[in-house]
Amino acid sequence: MELPIFEPFKTKMVETVYKSSREQREQWIKDASFNLFNLKSDQVIIDLLTDSGTGAMSDRQWAAMMTGDESYAGASSYYNLKKAVTEITGFDFFLPAHQGRAAENVLFSALIKEGDLVPGNSHFDTTKGHIEFRKAIPVDCTVDIAMDFTAYYPFKGNVDLARLEDVLKSNPRGKIPCIIVTITNNTAGGQPVSMENIRGVSRLARKYDTSLFLDSARFAENAWFIKTREEGYPDKGIREIALEMFSYTDGMTMSSKKDAIVNMGGFTAYRDKELFRKASAYNIIYEGFITYGGMSGRDMNALAQGLYDGTDEEYLRSRIGQVAYLGSLLKEYGVPVLEPFGGHAVFIDAYSFLPLIPKEKFPGQVLAVELYIEGGIRSAEVGALMADRDPVTRENRFSGREMIRLALPRRVYSDNHMKYVAAAVNAVYERRKSINRGLKIKWEAPILRHFTVELERF
Ligand SMILES: *Cc1c(COP(=O)(O)O)cnc(C)c1O
Repeated sequence: MELPIFEPFKTKMVETVYKSSREQREQWIKDASFNLFNLKSDQVIIDLLTDSGTGAMSDRQWAAMMTGDESYAGASSYYNLKKAVTEITGFDFFLPAHQGRAAENVLFSALIKEGDLVPGNSHFDTTKGHIEFRKAIPVDCTVDIAMDFTAYYPFKGNVDLARLEDVLKSNPRGKIPCIIVTITNNTAGGQPVSMENIRGVSRLARKYDTSLFLDSARFAENAWFIKTREEGYPDKGIREIALEMFSYTDGMTMSSKKDAIVNMGGFTAYRDKELFRKASAYNIIYEGFITYGGMSGRDMNALAQGLYDGTDEEYLRSRIGQVAYLGSLLKEYGVPVLEPFGGHAVFIDAYSFLPLIPKEKFPGQVLAVELYIEGGIRSAEVGALMADRDPVTRENRFSGREMIRLALPRRVYSDNHMKYVAAAVNAVYERRKSINRGLKIKWEAPILRHFTVELERF
């Protein structure tokens, strides 16, 4: 008999989970203008808003914090991090940054100018924000099957190579400074990109004289899916697979708050020394000197260890296993979930969950609010609110998917917490036919509005 899989760690310190009543939550969410970002964390019972910066560090990471070197230039912590980055990614040149969007800011300052096109697979919201802020245009070339909620395809995060080639072909040279491939594809549901696809994109980048960068926040989870789903990789190690993924590219941006299991941090890495030098100037302006870039020495030490923790195979097995566990509990209840289950989160289809709420009334957000009221669970809308308005027409982008995302912090919640979450979702599901009030926008920011939007009930 095979013994069950379990978490390859045990608890050394605990944090209290605050409980609350339904009446309290009704009031709190009103006070928060129906935006879950506005809630205080102690008004939340289980916080699945994001897996970003919410992970639990290991004892080794905490130990590394104690030996942080806070020298302005040339700190040993910088060299510890450099060694880890080079070992895990294969890139010789890297620049620390305080988080992923800061890394994007540094790279894009060096690469992107007004009027450029930046093709890729459903760019992450801050990536899109940084591109559009520069009056350049992100072009989504994700495979069509990604839009099918339940069709099984092992790599739903892939780039449609024919579509990408059309974009590359039909544009004059110099207009496309780079292609950004996001691994795993967060916006498509934490879905992985295959090695074959990365190789194919890389080939096209060479053919059309442009460059390829990986938005690598969840590179280790992506490597896990390659190992378990792609032919030729089951016997390879996670780090070997990660090195191969990066080997086809010109560099990367990294939000270390995801797969590197730190609470803050990021970096960019480069193959080309010239580009590294150009980006270094922006790193100094925006982030800090090139040997710390917005991070304290102790944080660089924790990140260095986190890169090893996050690429540990046993850890990834339990991590991705927990996401699938929550997904399968929901599926047993009949809840419409995105399949196959992704790396860091379970996504619920708000259109089929709440058929009485038309898309103009933000069903994704309505569902997130109902789940909060039901069980104190904080999730995130991935739908029209997050999609922002079209930068040219200023129309709402209602054409995409409406989902809520239940993102699982790393090494934080137990499977009992997952059972609680699934039961709360089911309780909302059972009363879905009585949920008929939508939401409308009271106030919104011109870009990345979902973080600060204020809503009211229709
Ligand atoms: C989180 C994330 C970012 C931005 O990183 P921050 O650390 O939140 O600034 C960029 N891309 C992807 C894919 C991400 O998941």
